Amino acid sequence: MTRNQDLFTRSQQRIPGGVNSPVRAFKAVGGTPRFITRAQGAYMFDADGQRYIDYINSWGPMILGHSHPEVLAAVQEAMAQGLSFGAPTEREIELVEAIAGHLPSVEMARLVSSGTEAGMSALRLARGATGRQKIIKFEGCYHGHADALLVKAGSGLATFGNPTSAGVPPEVVKDTLVLPYNDVAALEQAFNEHGNALACVMIEPIAGNMNFVRASLPFMQRCRELCTQHGVLLVLDEVMTGFRVGLGSAQGWYAQHLPGFAPDLTVLGKVIGGGMPLAAFGGRRDVMEQLAPLGPVYQAGTLSGNPVATACGLATLRAIAKPGFFDALATRTQRLVQGLVQAGQDAGVPMCGDSEGGMFGFFLLPSLPQNYAQVMQSDGARFNAFFHAMLERGVYLAPALFEAGFVSGAHSDADIDATIEAAREALRAG
Ligand SMILES: *Cc1c(COP(=O)(O)O)cnc(C)c1O
Repeated sequence: MTRNQDLFTRSQQRIPGGVNSPVRAFKAVGGTPRFITRAQGAYMFDADGQRYIDYINSWGPMILGHSHPEVLAAVQEAMAQGLSFGAPTEREIELVEAIAGHLPSVEMARLVSSGTEAGMSALRLARGATGRQKIIKFEGCYHGHADALLVKAGSGLATFGNPTSAGVPPEVVKDTLVLPYNDVAALEQAFNEHGNALACVMIEPIAGNMNFVRASLPFMQRCRELCTQHGVLLVLDEVMTGFRVGLGSAQGWYAQHLPGFAPDLTVLGKVIGGGMPLAAFGGRRDVMEQLAPLGPVYQAGTLSGNPVATACGLATLRAIAKPGFFDALATRTQRLVQGLVQAGQDAGVPMCGDSEGGMFGFFLLPSLPQNYAQVMQSDGARFNAFFHAMLERGVYLAPALFEAGFVSGAHSDADIDATIEAAREALRAG
Protein backbone atom coordinates (compact mmCIF):
# COMPACT_ATOMS: atom_id res chain seq x y z
CA MET A 1 0.00 0.00 0.00
CA THR A 2 1.29 3.44 -0.80
CA ARG A 3 0.56 6.26 1.61
CA ASN A 4 -1.82 7.74 -1.02
CA GLN A 5 -3.80 4.48 -1.15
CA ASP A 6 -3.82 4.31 2.61
CA LEU A 7 -5.19 7.84 2.91
CA PHE A 8 -7.79 7.21 0.21
CA THR A 9 -9.04 4.12 2.03
CA ARG A 10 -9.23 6.09 5.25
CA SER A 11 -10.88 9.16 3.74
CA GLN A 12 -13.60 7.05 2.13
CA GLN A 13 -14.69 5.95 5.62
CA ARG A 14 -15.61 9.46 6.68
CA ILE A 15 -15.88 11.67 3.60
CA PRO A 16 -18.28 10.68 0.79
CA GLY A 17 -16.13 9.32 -2.03
CA GLY A 18 -13.10 10.31 0.02
CA VAL A 19 -13.14 13.86 -1.34
CA ASN A 20 -14.71 17.25 -0.75
CA SER A 21 -15.33 17.99 -4.44
CA PRO A 22 -16.20 15.13 -6.81
CA VAL A 23 -13.60 15.55 -9.59
CA ARG A 24 -10.78 15.05 -7.08
CA ALA A 25 -11.77 11.39 -6.68
CA PHE A 26 -10.28 10.41 -10.10
CA LYS A 27 -13.54 8.67 -10.92
CA ALA A 28 -13.35 9.53 -14.62
CA VAL A 29 -9.74 8.41 -15.05
CA GLY A 30 -9.63 5.67 -12.41
CA GLY A 31 -6.81 5.04 -9.95
CA THR A 32 -5.88 6.56 -6.62
CA PRO A 33 -6.13 10.30 -6.05
CA ARG A 34 -2.91 11.89 -4.86
CA PHE A 35 -3.08 13.39 -1.39
CA ILE A 36 -1.10 16.60 -1.49
CA THR A 37 1.13 17.54 1.42
CA ARG A 38 2.61 20.78 0.13
CA ALA A 39 3.15 22.83 -2.99
CA GLN A 40 5.83 25.26 -4.04
CA GLY A 41 6.04 27.26 -7.27
CA ALA A 42 5.05 25.04 -10.20
CA TYR A 43 5.18 21.83 -8.13
CA MET A 44 2.93 19.83 -5.84
CA PHE A 45 4.21 17.01 -3.61
CA ASP A 46 2.07 14.05 -2.58
CA ALA A 47 1.95 11.86 0.50
CA ASP A 48 4.45 9.43 -1.06
CA GLY A 49 6.92 12.25 -1.66
CA GLN A 50 6.31 12.32 -5.42
CA ARG A 51 6.75 15.68 -7.15
CA TYR A 52 4.37 16.83 -9.90
CA ILE A 53 4.48 19.73 -12.32
CA ASP A 54 1.04 21.12 -11.54
CA TYR A 55 -1.26 22.11 -14.42
CA ILE A 56 -4.37 22.33 -12.24
CA ASN A 57 -3.28 25.29 -10.10
CA SER A 58 -6.08 24.52 -7.64
CA TRP A 59 -8.40 24.64 -10.69
CA GLY A 60 -7.20 28.11 -11.61
CA PRO A 61 -6.50 30.35 -8.63
CA MET A 62 -2.75 29.78 -8.26
CA ILE A 63 -1.75 31.93 -11.21
CA LEU A 64 1.49 33.01 -9.51
CA GLY A 65 2.38 29.43 -8.61
CA HIS A 66 2.14 27.95 -5.14
CA SER A 67 3.38 29.66 -1.99
CA HIS A 68 4.34 32.86 -3.77
CA PRO A 69 6.39 34.92 -1.27
CA GLU A 70 4.50 38.21 -1.78
CA VAL A 71 1.15 36.48 -1.35
CA LEU A 72 2.25 34.55 1.73
CA ALA A 73 3.63 37.72 3.30
CA ALA A 74 0.35 39.56 2.71
CA VAL A 75 -1.66 36.68 4.18
CA GLN A 76 0.61 36.42 7.23
CA GLU A 77 0.40 40.14 7.86
CA ALA A 78 -3.40 40.12 7.58
CA MET A 79 -3.69 37.01 9.73
CA ALA A 80 -1.80 38.66 12.57
CA GLN A 81 -4.44 41.43 12.59
CA GLY A 82 -7.37 39.07 13.06
CA LEU A 83 -9.14 36.37 11.07
CA SER A 84 -12.65 37.75 10.63
CA PHE A 85 -14.59 40.74 11.88
CA GLY A 86 -18.07 40.67 10.36
CA ALA A 87 -17.65 44.41 9.84
CA PRO A 88 -16.34 46.33 6.84
CA THR A 89 -12.62 46.78 6.17
CA GLU A 90 -10.61 49.08 3.91
CA ARG A 91 -9.10 46.10 2.10
CA GLU A 92 -12.51 45.12 0.69
CA ILE A 93 -12.71 48.55 -0.97
CA GLU A 94 -9.17 48.17 -2.28
CA LEU A 95 -9.92 44.78 -3.79
CA VAL A 96 -13.12 45.92 -5.51
CA GLU A 97 -11.31 49.05 -6.72
CA ALA A 98 -8.54 46.86 -8.13
CA ILE A 99 -11.06 44.64 -9.92
CA ALA A 100 -12.95 47.67 -11.29
CA GLY A 101 -9.66 49.21 -12.39
CA HIS A 102 -9.09 46.30 -14.75
CA LEU A 103 -12.72 45.62 -15.72
CA PRO A 104 -14.50 48.82 -16.76
CA SER A 105 -17.86 46.99 -16.88
CA VAL A 106 -17.66 46.41 -13.12
CA GLU A 107 -18.93 49.70 -11.69
CA MET A 108 -19.73 48.04 -8.38
CA ALA A 109 -19.14 44.58 -6.98
CA ARG A 110 -19.97 42.52 -3.96
CA LEU A 111 -17.58 39.99 -2.45
CA VAL A 112 -18.67 36.47 -1.54
CA SER A 113 -16.85 33.22 -0.69
CA SER A 114 -17.24 30.90 -3.68
CA GLY A 115 -17.94 30.99 -7.39
CA THR A 116 -21.14 29.05 -6.77
CA GLU A 117 -22.34 31.72 -4.37
CA ALA A 118 -21.39 34.49 -6.80
CA GLY A 119 -23.22 32.84 -9.72
CA MET A 120 -26.29 32.08 -7.63
CA SER A 121 -26.38 35.67 -6.34
CA ALA A 122 -25.93 37.15 -9.82
CA LEU A 123 -28.84 35.06 -11.01
CA ARG A 124 -31.11 36.23 -8.18
CA LEU A 125 -30.05 39.81 -8.83
CA ALA A 126 -30.76 39.50 -12.56
CA ARG A 127 -34.23 38.15 -11.80
CA GLY A 128 -34.88 40.75 -9.12
CA ALA A 129 -33.65 43.65 -11.23
CA THR A 130 -35.63 42.68 -14.33
CA GLY A 131 -38.70 41.24 -12.62
CA ARG A 132 -38.44 38.26 -14.99
CA GLN A 133 -37.89 34.57 -14.28
CA LYS A 134 -36.54 32.81 -17.37
CA ILE A 135 -32.84 32.46 -18.03
CA ILE A 136 -30.64 31.05 -20.78
CA LYS A 137 -27.55 28.97 -20.13
CA PHE A 138 -25.49 26.89 -22.53
CA GLU A 139 -24.75 23.20 -22.65
CA GLY A 140 -21.26 22.46 -21.30
CA CYS A 141 -21.01 25.67 -19.26
CA TYR A 142 -20.76 25.30 -15.48
CA HIS A 143 -21.80 28.12 -13.19
CA GLY A 144 -21.43 26.43 -9.83
CA HIS A 145 -23.90 24.08 -8.20
CA ALA A 146 -26.86 26.35 -7.43
CA ASP A 147 -30.11 24.46 -8.09
CA ALA A 148 -31.37 26.55 -10.99
CA LEU A 149 -28.06 26.16 -12.83
CA LEU A 150 -27.66 22.39 -12.51
CA VAL A 151 -29.51 21.76 -15.72
CA LYS A 152 -28.95 19.87 -18.93
CA ALA A 153 -30.72 20.34 -22.19
CA GLY A 154 -34.11 18.73 -22.56
CA SER A 155 -34.96 16.83 -25.71
CA GLY A 156 -34.80 19.02 -28.79
CA LEU A 157 -33.60 22.58 -29.21
CA ALA A 158 -34.93 25.46 -27.17
CA THR A 159 -36.65 23.31 -24.59
CA PHE A 160 -36.44 23.91 -20.90
CA GLY A 161 -33.97 21.79 -19.04
CA ASN A 162 -33.86 18.78 -16.79
CA PRO A 163 -31.98 18.75 -13.47
CA THR A 164 -28.50 17.17 -13.64
CA SER A 165 -28.59 16.30 -9.97
CA ALA A 166 -30.98 14.43 -7.74
CA GLY A 167 -32.53 16.75 -5.20
CA VAL A 168 -33.14 19.61 -7.62
CA PRO A 169 -36.92 20.06 -7.92
CA PRO A 170 -38.07 20.22 -11.56
CA GLU A 171 -39.96 23.45 -10.81
CA VAL A 172 -36.66 25.14 -9.86
CA VAL A 173 -35.18 24.51 -13.30
CA LYS A 174 -38.36 24.96 -15.32
CA ASP A 175 -37.32 28.52 -16.21
CA THR A 176 -33.78 27.57 -17.25
CA LEU A 177 -33.46 27.27 -21.01
CA VAL A 178 -30.37 25.29 -22.08
CA LEU A 179 -29.02 26.00 -25.55
CA PRO A 180 -26.08 24.62 -27.53
CA TYR A 181 -22.96 26.79 -27.26
CA ASN A 182 -21.94 28.84 -30.31
CA ASP A 183 -25.29 28.25 -32.07
CA VAL A 184 -26.61 31.61 -33.28
CA ALA A 185 -29.77 30.14 -34.83
CA ALA A 186 -30.80 28.42 -31.58
CA LEU A 187 -30.15 31.65 -29.68
CA GLU A 188 -32.28 33.68 -32.08
CA GLN A 189 -35.09 31.16 -31.90
CA ALA A 190 -35.01 31.24 -28.09
CA PHE A 191 -35.17 35.04 -28.05
CA ASN A 192 -38.03 34.97 -30.56
CA GLU A 193 -40.03 32.74 -28.28
CA HIS A 194 -39.01 33.98 -24.84
CA GLY A 195 -37.07 37.24 -25.28
CA ASN A 196 -39.38 39.43 -23.24
CA ALA A 197 -39.61 36.91 -20.40
CA LEU A 198 -35.86 36.49 -19.99
CA ALA A 199 -33.95 37.91 -17.02
CA CYS A 200 -30.47 37.00 -18.21
CA VAL A 201 -28.20 35.05 -20.48
CA MET A 202 -25.40 33.47 -18.47
CA ILE A 203 -22.32 32.31 -20.33
CA GLU A 204 -18.71 31.27 -19.85
CA PRO A 205 -17.03 33.43 -22.52
CA ILE A 206 -14.28 30.85 -22.87
CA ALA A 207 -15.91 27.71 -21.61
CA GLY A 208 -13.40 26.01 -19.32
CA ASN A 209 -15.76 23.42 -17.96
CA MET A 210 -15.88 21.63 -21.31
CA ASN A 211 -12.09 21.83 -21.58
CA PHE A 212 -11.45 25.00 -23.62
CA VAL A 213 -14.04 26.28 -26.09
CA ARG A 214 -14.26 29.92 -27.09
CA ALA A 215 -17.54 31.63 -27.73
CA SER A 216 -17.09 32.76 -31.34
CA LEU A 217 -17.08 36.51 -31.97
CA PRO A 218 -20.33 36.43 -34.00
CA PHE A 219 -21.97 34.36 -31.27
CA MET A 220 -20.90 36.69 -28.45
CA GLN A 221 -21.89 39.71 -30.54
CA ARG A 222 -25.35 38.22 -31.12
CA CYS A 223 -25.71 37.47 -27.39
CA ARG A 224 -24.98 41.12 -26.65
CA GLU A 225 -27.31 42.48 -29.35
CA LEU A 226 -30.26 40.28 -28.45
CA CYS A 227 -29.88 40.98 -24.73
CA THR A 228 -29.81 44.73 -25.36
CA GLN A 229 -32.82 44.58 -27.68
CA HIS A 230 -34.92 42.63 -25.19
CA GLY A 231 -33.80 44.26 -21.94
CA VAL A 232 -32.09 41.05 -20.86
CA LEU A 233 -28.91 41.13 -18.73
CA LEU A 234 -25.80 39.56 -20.24
CA VAL A 235 -23.95 37.82 -17.41
CA LEU A 236 -20.41 36.68 -18.15
CA ASP A 237 -19.26 33.94 -15.82
CA GLU A 238 -15.56 34.73 -15.58
CA VAL A 239 -14.94 32.68 -12.44
CA MET A 240 -12.34 30.76 -14.42
CA THR A 241 -11.30 33.26 -17.12
CA GLY A 242 -11.24 36.35 -14.87
CA PHE A 243 -7.63 37.56 -14.45
CA ARG A 244 -6.52 34.20 -15.86
CA VAL A 245 -6.69 34.79 -19.63
CA GLY A 246 -5.41 38.37 -19.28
CA LEU A 247 -5.62 41.37 -16.96
CA GLY A 248 -8.74 42.50 -18.82
CA SER A 249 -10.15 38.96 -18.51
CA ALA A 250 -12.18 37.41 -21.34
CA GLN A 251 -14.38 40.50 -21.60
CA GLY A 252 -11.29 42.54 -22.43
CA TRP A 253 -10.48 40.17 -25.27
CA TYR A 254 -14.03 40.41 -26.67
CA ALA A 255 -14.00 44.21 -26.30
CA GLN A 256 -10.80 44.34 -28.38
CA HIS A 257 -12.55 42.53 -31.20
CA LEU A 258 -16.09 43.88 -30.72
CA PRO A 259 -15.73 47.60 -29.97
CA GLY A 260 -17.96 48.73 -27.11
CA PHE A 261 -18.61 45.19 -25.92
CA ALA A 262 -19.35 44.89 -22.20
CA PRO A 263 -21.41 42.51 -20.07
CA ASP A 264 -24.07 43.82 -17.69
CA LEU A 265 -22.86 41.59 -14.87
CA THR A 266 -19.67 39.60 -14.31
CA VAL A 267 -19.14 36.66 -12.00
CA LEU A 268 -15.61 36.23 -10.62
CA GLY A 269 -13.80 33.77 -8.37
CA LYS A 270 -10.67 31.61 -8.48
CA VAL A 271 -7.78 34.03 -9.31
CA ILE A 272 -9.29 37.01 -7.45
CA GLY A 273 -8.94 34.99 -4.22
CA GLY A 274 -5.41 33.81 -5.01
CA GLY A 275 -6.16 30.45 -3.35
CA MET A 276 -8.40 31.63 -0.50
CA PRO A 277 -12.22 31.29 -0.51
CA LEU A 278 -13.18 34.51 -2.23
CA ALA A 279 -15.39 35.35 -5.21
CA ALA A 280 -17.42 38.31 -6.43
CA PHE A 281 -20.18 39.45 -8.70
CA GLY A 282 -20.40 42.92 -10.10
CA GLY A 283 -21.37 45.12 -13.00
CA ARG A 284 -23.74 47.96 -13.83
CA ARG A 285 -24.32 50.38 -10.96
CA ASP A 286 -28.10 50.59 -11.53
CA VAL A 287 -28.35 46.80 -11.33
CA MET A 288 -25.99 46.36 -8.37
CA GLU A 289 -27.91 49.00 -6.41
CA GLN A 290 -30.88 46.64 -6.40
CA LEU A 291 -29.03 44.61 -3.73
CA ALA A 292 -29.84 44.86 -0.04
CA PRO A 293 -29.43 47.11 1.90
CA LEU A 294 -30.12 49.56 -0.96
CA GLY A 295 -32.64 47.52 -2.90
CA PRO A 296 -35.04 44.60 -2.65
CA VAL A 297 -32.70 41.74 -3.67
CA TYR A 298 -31.41 39.99 -0.56
CA GLN A 299 -27.87 38.64 -0.41
CA ALA A 300 -25.47 38.26 2.53
CA GLY A 301 -22.52 36.32 3.96
CA THR A 302 -20.90 35.88 7.38
CA LEU A 303 -17.41 35.51 5.91
CA SER A 304 -17.93 37.69 2.81
CA GLY A 305 -14.96 39.99 2.24
CA ASN A 306 -12.89 38.05 4.78
CA PRO A 307 -9.80 40.09 5.72
CA VAL A 308 -7.29 37.28 5.11
CA ALA A 309 -8.88 36.29 1.80
CA THR A 310 -8.97 39.89 0.54
CA ALA A 311 -5.28 40.29 1.46
CA CYS A 312 -4.48 37.17 -0.53
CA GLY A 313 -6.55 38.29 -3.53
CA LEU A 314 -5.16 41.80 -3.50
CA ALA A 315 -1.54 40.60 -3.36
CA THR A 316 -2.29 38.27 -6.25
CA LEU A 317 -3.92 40.96 -8.39
CA ARG A 318 -1.04 43.35 -7.71
CA ALA A 319 1.58 40.78 -8.70
CA ILE A 320 -0.13 39.83 -11.98
CA ALA A 321 -0.56 43.50 -12.90
CA LYS A 322 3.21 43.94 -13.09
CA PRO A 323 4.36 44.77 -16.63
CA GLY A 324 5.12 41.73 -18.77
CA PHE A 325 3.52 39.15 -16.47
CA PHE A 326 0.77 38.09 -18.85
CA ASP A 327 2.92 38.29 -21.99
CA ALA A 328 5.42 35.86 -20.49
CA LEU A 329 2.64 33.60 -19.17
CA ALA A 330 0.82 33.55 -22.51
CA THR A 331 4.02 32.77 -24.42
CA ARG A 332 4.87 29.86 -22.14
CA THR A 333 1.32 28.52 -22.27
CA GLN A 334 1.31 28.70 -26.08
CA ARG A 335 4.61 26.86 -26.18
CA LEU A 336 3.17 24.10 -24.01
CA VAL A 337 0.12 23.67 -26.24
CA GLN A 338 2.18 23.71 -29.43
CA GLY A 339 4.54 21.14 -27.93
CA LEU A 340 1.70 18.84 -26.91
CA VAL A 341 0.03 19.10 -30.30
CA GLN A 342 3.34 18.44 -32.07
CA ALA A 343 3.97 15.42 -29.82
CA GLY A 344 0.53 14.10 -30.76
CA GLN A 345 1.11 14.61 -34.47
CA ASP A 346 4.53 12.92 -34.30
CA ALA A 347 2.93 9.94 -32.55
CA GLY A 348 0.11 9.78 -35.10
CA VAL A 349 -2.48 10.70 -32.46
CA PRO A 350 -5.07 13.31 -33.46
CA MET A 351 -4.48 16.21 -31.11
CA CYS A 352 -5.28 19.91 -31.14
CA GLY A 353 -5.28 22.67 -28.58
CA ASP A 354 -5.82 26.33 -27.80
CA SER A 355 -4.90 28.78 -25.08
CA GLU A 356 -5.43 32.34 -23.90
CA GLY A 357 -3.17 33.87 -21.26
CA GLY A 358 -2.50 31.16 -18.68
CA MET A 359 -5.47 28.92 -19.53
CA PHE A 360 -5.28 26.12 -22.09
CA GLY A 361 -7.01 23.07 -23.45
CA PHE A 362 -5.95 20.16 -25.59
CA PHE A 363 -8.18 17.61 -27.27
CA LEU A 364 -7.64 14.15 -28.69
CA LEU A 365 -9.50 15.36 -31.75
CA PRO A 366 -8.36 16.45 -35.22
CA SER A 367 -9.83 19.97 -34.89
CA LEU A 368 -11.03 22.30 -32.16
CA PRO A 369 -14.60 21.59 -30.99
CA GLN A 370 -17.19 24.38 -30.91
CA ASN A 371 -19.69 22.93 -28.47
CA TYR A 372 -20.25 20.28 -25.83
CA ALA A 373 -21.38 17.53 -28.21
CA GLN A 374 -18.15 17.91 -30.19
CA VAL A 375 -16.02 17.94 -27.03
CA MET A 376 -17.64 14.66 -26.01
CA GLN A 377 -16.44 13.00 -29.23
CA SER A 378 -12.96 12.93 -27.65
CA ASP A 379 -11.48 9.50 -27.09
CA GLY A 380 -12.03 9.07 -23.35
CA ALA A 381 -10.13 5.80 -22.96
CA ARG A 382 -7.08 7.23 -24.70
CA PHE A 383 -7.27 10.38 -22.58
CA ASN A 384 -7.35 8.31 -19.39
CA ALA A 385 -4.29 6.30 -20.46
CA PHE A 386 -2.50 9.54 -21.36
CA PHE A 387 -3.47 11.12 -18.04
CA HIS A 388 -2.00 8.23 -16.03
CA ALA A 389 1.12 8.00 -18.19
CA MET A 390 1.71 11.71 -17.55
CA LEU A 391 1.02 11.37 -13.83
CA GLU A 392 3.58 8.53 -13.60
CA ARG A 393 6.05 10.89 -15.25
CA GLY A 394 5.42 13.61 -12.68
CA VAL A 395 2.97 15.77 -14.66
CA TYR A 396 -0.37 16.53 -12.99
CA LEU A 397 -3.04 17.25 -15.60
CA ALA A 398 -6.74 17.67 -14.83
CA PRO A 399 -8.19 14.19 -14.19
CA ALA A 400 -10.99 14.51 -16.77
CA LEU A 401 -10.98 15.39 -20.45
CA PHE A 402 -13.58 18.12 -20.10
CA GLU A 403 -11.45 20.32 -17.82
CA ALA A 404 -9.19 23.21 -18.84
CA GLY A 405 -5.54 23.34 -17.82
CA PHE A 406 -3.58 26.15 -16.20
CA VAL A 407 0.00 27.39 -16.34
CA SER A 408 1.35 29.69 -13.63
CA GLY A 409 4.00 32.38 -13.52
CA ALA A 410 6.20 29.87 -11.68
CA HIS A 411 6.34 27.37 -14.57
CA SER A 412 9.75 27.67 -16.20
CA ASP A 413 10.70 26.88 -19.76
CA ALA A 414 12.43 23.81 -18.36
CA ASP A 415 9.12 22.68 -16.79
CA ILE A 416 7.37 23.12 -20.14
CA ASP A 417 10.13 21.18 -21.94
CA ALA A 418 9.93 18.37 -19.38
CA THR A 419 6.16 18.22 -19.83
CA ILE A 420 6.41 17.99 -23.61
CA GLU A 421 9.06 15.28 -23.32
CA ALA A 422 6.80 13.37 -20.90
CA ALA A 423 3.95 13.68 -23.41
CA ARG A 424 6.16 12.25 -26.18
CA GLU A 425 7.01 9.25 -24.02
CA ALA A 426 3.41 8.85 -22.85
CA LEU A 427 2.06 8.88 -26.40
CA ARG A 428 4.73 6.43 -27.56
CA ALA A 429 3.88 4.15 -24.66
CA GLY A 430 0.15 4.14 -25.29
C1 LIG B 1 -15.18 27.04 -10.74
C2 LIG B 1 -16.32 27.69 -11.43
C3 LIG B 1 -17.50 28.05 -10.76
C4 LIG B 1 -17.77 27.64 -9.33
O1 LIG B 1 -16.88 28.19 -8.45
P1 LIG B 1 -16.70 27.48 -6.99
O2 LIG B 1 -15.77 28.42 -6.28
O3 LIG B 1 -16.12 26.13 -7.27
O4 LIG B 1 -18.03 27.42 -6.38
C5 LIG B 1 -18.44 28.76 -11.46
N1 LIG B 1 -18.28 29.10 -12.73
C6 LIG B 1 -17.17 28.75 -13.42
C7 LIG B 1 -17.02 29.18 -14.83
C8 LIG B 1 -16.16 28.03 -12.79
O5 LIG B 1 -15.09 27.66 -13.50
